Amino acid sequence: MENGRGDYVVLFPFMAQGHFIPFLSLAQLIQQKGYTVIFINTPLNINNLRKSFPPSRSSAAAIKFAEIPFNAADHGLPPDGENTDSLPYNLIIRFIEITPSLKLPFRKILSDLIYTYGGEKPLCVISDFFFGWAADVAHELGIFHLIFSVAGGFGLACYSSMWLNLPHKETDSVDFLLPDFPEAGRIHVTQTTPGMLTAGESDPITIFQQKNFISWANSDGFLLNTVEEIDELGLIYFRRKLGIPVWGIGPLLLSEVDRARTGRQSTITPQQCVQWLDKKDPKSVLYISFGSQNTIPASQMMKLAKALDSSDRNFIWVVRPPLGFDIKAEFVAEEWLPEEFLKRINEQKRGLIISRWAPQVEILAHKSVAAFISHCGWNSVLEALKHGVPVIGWPIGADQLYNAKFLVEIARICVEVARGINFEAAEEDIVEKIEMVMGEKGEEIRRRCLEIKDVVKDAIRDEEGYKGSSVKAVEELLVAAWKKKTTGATK
Ligand code: UDP
Repeated sequence: MENGRGDYVVLFPFMAQGHFIPFLSLAQLIQQKGYTVIFINTPLNINNLRKSFPPSRSSAAAIKFAEIPFNAADHGLPPDGENTDSLPYNLIIRFIEITPSLKLPFRKILSDLIYTYGGEKPLCVISDFFFGWAADVAHELGIFHLIFSVAGGFGLACYSSMWLNLPHKETDSVDFLLPDFPEAGRIHVTQTTPGMLTAGESDPITIFQQKNFISWANSDGFLLNTVEEIDELGLIYFRRKLGIPVWGIGPLLLSEVDRARTGRQSTITPQQCVQWLDKKDPKSVLYISFGSQNTIPASQMMKLAKALDSSDRNFIWVVRPPLGFDIKAEFVAEEWLPEEFLKRINEQKRGLIISRWAPQVEILAHKSVAAFISHCGWNSVLEALKHGVPVIGWPIGADQLYNAKFLVEIARICVEVARGINFEAAEEDIVEKIEMVMGEKGEEIRRRCLEIKDVVKDAIRDEEGYKGSSVKAVEELLVAAWKKKTTGATK
């Protein structure tokens, strides 16, 4: 495969931290292969990214940023509403819904790039899985197109099957099989997102995804940030449904340094966190985080705090304002946590509360961390799998509900403690689940975590005489893109 000077790849992620992180990691991987990457996003996001990733002076392959014109206020969003982490949930859905309006500006950016590169087309366009429409735009200009799903195979397959079939509408039973994905096993009605459950076919995200799913099949390939060996069922589902090549290319994760550069700063430095963890016994700390945009209701937050009070385990808890509070609100422990909770845990020196954003990768990689209460967002799942940390699943919505199912039933490294925002969390139950994973009973889960950690590590091994499945997948997709560029043939 030749890589001439003008070869570049265009990446276009959805405007969310959980999408930027794997896309930037993919950008680094493509850059290492010798290609310049053009990373497209809306002005505020690009502005943040440019500050953190200044332009490279070398003429070698670089990551460059390009702005797609977008005015949030034109779409009923707050003027700074260009990233999901600054939007409440209902506006995140609105944001997703209006993204097809970027089709024309995206076409213009691609045409301008081709002009700038002296008529040279990009080797390929890789767009977010929310932007299935980008396949048509790329094809109109004769460019190879790939979708990149930042969600895992199993979780996205279940979620897709729910969108396409709404199977809960066909039964009075509390659980059911997915008609086109029976291998997933039974789905419980509480694993149906609230919107789907109540609104069914008029749920806005279902309407969006039913259309979006069809457009995925127009692409030349479907990439998932996952590992074939552990997520085979999900990959099989997409191969069967889309009829295009499907590649597991993960885990694509960013280093702590690079993720800090994506614009999210923690109130605590990774070093301070590590120093705190260094003082704790190996495998003695529970880490709790609900990701970059989710948060739990105040009542659940109170129950969780009480459970942490009664359990004698060390913990680090990343606290974001509970549901119903302004997501930009300052941290108000007195309102959100039991009386004197902070004072008690400080005196006992066993708890660290971090407001809003923690250096998660440093934490999960530390030898003192024993378990992770997680909302089961896919990046968090991959980070747990990569570092061999057992999960106590607390999925809140979306694919998290199915990621938790994957972790419990397929990866077998998780027990679920709560599900959804309407869940009545019980203090004793939370304590029991923490013990099930961190105590003696958790031995089998810990053993399984080590097994999976090795499989995940293997997938990205690229050594003399050995290439892991994800390494081979990236090579294959580049060959396919080259084939299209040089011969016009696809698939
Ligand atoms: N993250 C982090 N610190 C935090 C919360 C989240 O570094 O306090 C990172 C986390 O490591 C992961 C990403 O943000 O890489 C969140 O993605 P995920 O898919 O887990 O959840 P989402 O935020 O998209 O729901």
